[in-house]
Parts: sequence; structure tokens; C-alpha cells
Amino acid sequence: MRQRSSRDFQRVNSRRLWTAVFFLVALVIFALMSASYFVAGMLTSGGSKGLIQEISQAAECGRNHLLPTAAAIDRYARGTGKYPEQIDDLLPMYLEKQEVLRCPADTTTPKGESSFLYHRPQPGDTDAVLLECPHHNTLLMRVRARGKTEPGKTFWELQMQPLTQAP
Ligand SMILES: [Zn+2]
Repeated sequence: MRQRSSRDFQRVNSRRLWTAVFFLVALVIFALMSASYFVAGMLTSGGSKGLIQEISQAAECGRNHLLPTAAAIDRYARGTGKYPEQIDDLLPMYLEKQEVLRCPADTTTPKGESSFLYHRPQPGDTDAVLLECPHHNTLLMRVRARGKTEPGKTFWELQMQPLTQAP
């Protein structure tokens, strides 16, 4: 009598265990499926404006546009002893091509104008933001000084940050 009830108990227990295992497996499969669906959606959402294109444009903007512009600003500061008042002052002596000042993702700025926001460094600034590109959907691109801003001695750092929704 005692043994039988204990065996029944074991049977019920193992059935519960299998139900729990089954639920866990189903949950993991569901999580994997929805995760891959989410990633696939991110990569292809908006057709041509997918995440891959967004990142490659941002990388190109930083490497071929923002950093060369920062280098030209540095050359200007070393050459004249002051930072340019406007970004266009770099042309044509410190920066040959106006296209460098254009972001590849920029579709709104009129031709011949710079895509970037320029913040003129002030003497003794620390960690100041020099340039920003507002033309990327989900990323904020900017060039920032690491440490003190000094003509020819500043280390300009490229930053790529996810844009968080402003309240
Ligand atoms: Zn850009």
C-alpha cells in the first residue's frame, strides 16, 4: 500500500517534470525564432535604409569626412594661431575639396554647404565637441577632443553613439 502510493507519486512527479522540460524547450525555440525575426527585420527594415547601410554610411562619414575635416581645422589652427570662425574658412587653403564637408547620408543640406555642425573651440576647452553630423537615422556621429584643446596638440576622437529618443 505504501509502496504503491509512492510509485504513483513518482509517476505524477516525472510527468510534471517532462511538462516543465517541454515548456522550457518551447520557450527557448520561441525566443530564438523571435530574436532572429527581430534581427532580420532590423537589417532589412526600410529596404535600402537598412541597418547595414546606416552603419556603413556612418563609418564612411567618420573616416572620410569628419576626421579629415577635424585634421583640416587643426592645420588651420596651427597655420593661423586661431580656430576658424566658420567651417567654410577651411576652403581652399586648408581643405581642397568641399565634398569632404558633405556627409554621404545627407539628403537635406543645399549643395555647396557643409553637412556638419561646427563648434568653434575656445581656449582651454576640455573634452569639447568639435563636429557633429546630424544626418544619420539611428546614430550620432561626432568628433570630440580628448583632454585640453590646443592647436596642433589636440587628440581628436571619433564617436559613434546610438541616438536616444529625446523626450
Ligand atoms: Zn554623417
